[in-house]
Amino acid sequence: MNGDSTMNNEVLDPHLTTKIVSSYVRHHMVGADQVSDLITSVHRALGQLGQPVEPREVLTPAVSVRRSVHHDYVVCLDCGYRGKTLRRHITTRHGLSRDDYLKRWKLKSDHPLTAPSYTEQRSMLAKELGLGRKPSMRGATPSAAGAAVSANADSKSRAKPTRRPSTRSASKSADGADGAASPSARKRPPRSR
Ligand SMILES: [Zn+2]
Repeated sequence: MNGDSTMNNEVLDPHLTTKIVSSYVRHHMVGADQVSDLITSVHRALGQLGQPVEPREVLTPAVSVRRSVHHDYVVCLDCGYRGKTLRRHITTRHGLSRDDYLKRWKLKSDHPLTAPSYTEQRSMLAKELGLGRKPSMRGATPSAAGAAVSANADSKSRAKPTRRPSTRSASKSADGADGAASPSARKRPPRSR
């Protein structure tokens, strides 16, 4: 029991440790070599009481806010993910709405979650295709709900199992070969006896 400087020894009442340890020893079989470990762990547990488990939760962004927006991509401050847009990423990966994300990182409400080049590309495309009527396509004020819905739709379609026509024919032929060969070979008793 050499003094551990990280423990809060002044505040901790050693009698408390003694009390707990002795009552434990009374009810449990404890080898002599285990007693010191027991005392240590009880002492430490008591010393940690009342202390916050995580001293402080300071959010450290993966990159600085200034460096999170580039012409061609944006960077997720949570994990450093790079993409043309973070809208789907923050919902699916971090469960954050746009507002949550902005609040979390104390970002301005006009902080772009989509790379400027991508936004330009999208709006150009929209104009070319004559989709200018849909205001939600513009990306200026996307609602969090809209983002979530599109994310859901996306993950659903991705989750769909892909069809594999080759395995069907393969397993069929394997079954056929098995069914034909093995039972008949086993059932038939040898005639020569
Ligand atoms: Zn992320």
